[in-house]
Amino acid sequence: YLSKYTEWIPGNYKVKSYSRGELFPFPINMLTLEQFFNVKLTVEDTKKLLQSLGEDYPNPKNSEEFVLSRVGRELYEAFYLGYTLKQWEIHPKDLDASVCGRIPIRFNKDERYVDHKYQLTPKHGFTKLFGNMIHHKNIHVLLNTDYKEIIADLNPKFIIYTGPIDYYFDYQFGKLPWRSLSFKHVEYNKEFEQPCVQINYPNDFTYTRSVEIKHVTQQKVPNTVVSFEFSEKEGDPYYPIPADNNKKLFLKYKELADIETKQKNVYFGGRLANYTYINTDEAIENALELYNKIVNEQKLG
Ligand code: UDP
Repeated sequence: YLSKYTEWIPGNYKVKSYSRGELFPFPINMLTLEQFFNVKLTVEDTKKLLQSLGEDYPNPKNSEEFVLSRVGRELYEAFYLGYTLKQWEIHPKDLDASVCGRIPIRFNKDERYVDHKYQLTPKHGFTKLFGNMIHHKNIHVLLNTDYKEIIADLNPKFIIYTGPIDYYFDYQFGKLPWRSLSFKHVEYNKEFEQPCVQINYPNDFTYTRSVEIKHVTQQKVPNTVVSFEFSEKEGDPYYPIPADNNKKLFLKYKELADIETKQKNVYFGGRLANYTYINTDEAIENALELYNKIVNEQKLG
C-alpha cells in the first residue's frame, strides 16, 4: 500500500551495545556470546550455552523474568537492566514481559535488530512519504490546532482519533502514564562517526542510545549527524508504559471509547489512542484494518 507513495531502500539496521568498555553486537546472538565469553561457538553450542545460563521461569511474568529465563543474570545485567531503568525509570520486574521481549535473542550470527523477512525504509524519508500521502484535494491539514477547539464546528460524519485516549476523555479517570524522548543532534566533520547506525548504552552516560541515521539513508555527504536520545518523563507522549496498572486504567477508557464509536462514529486508531507499544509496520497494519472496518460500518464501499 505504501509503495503508492514512496520508493524503498534496504532498512539495514545494525545495532551495537556498549557495555564494560566494549561494543558488542546486539541483539544477543552467537557473535555477542563469542566476544563476551571469549570463546568460539557453533549454533548448537550457542543454544546449549544459553540454556545453561537461563534461569527457571517457564512462564515469565515480567521483563526481568523474561530476560533471566532466556540469557541469565550476567547478560541481563550487562545489556538489559541499566537500559530498561534509564528508558522507563521502572524496574524490569514491574514491566510486562513483552517490553524486553521485543528484542530477539538468536542462536545464529544474524545481527539485525528485528526478525522481519522484509526490512525496508522509505527512500526519501518518512516526511516525504507522508507529504505524498496527504497531497490530495480532499485532504486539509491544520497544524498547531487543538482538536477540541475545532471539532464542534466541523460536524463530521465520522472521526478517526489518533491522539492520546486519556486526553480525548478529559482525563476523567486520571492521566495515563506516558514516556517521552528528547534528542541532541551533533554534527561531526567526517564521513562517519559510528561503526553502525545505532549504539545502545545500558550502563554508561545519561542518553539511552546514539543514532547515526546516515548508515541507513545512504546520503552521500562529507559530514555526519549523530542523534543522542534521552528518555523523558514529561513531553510529547511517545511510549505507553506496558504494566498491569496502566493496562487497567486504559481499559476503563477503552470502555468509553467503544461506546463513543457506537454512538458517535468516533474510531480510535494507533499507538496513542489504543495505548499500545507497536512498531511502525504494526501501526500501518492497524490503520489499514481500521480503514476496512470503517468502510464496512459506514457503508463507504
Ligand atoms: N532493551 C534493553 N537493552 C537494549 C535495548 C532494549 O534492555 O540494549 C529493552 C528496554 O527495556 C527497551 C526495550 O527492550 O525499552 C525495547 O527496546 P527497543 O529498542 O525495541 O525500544 P524502542 O526502539 O521502541 O525505543
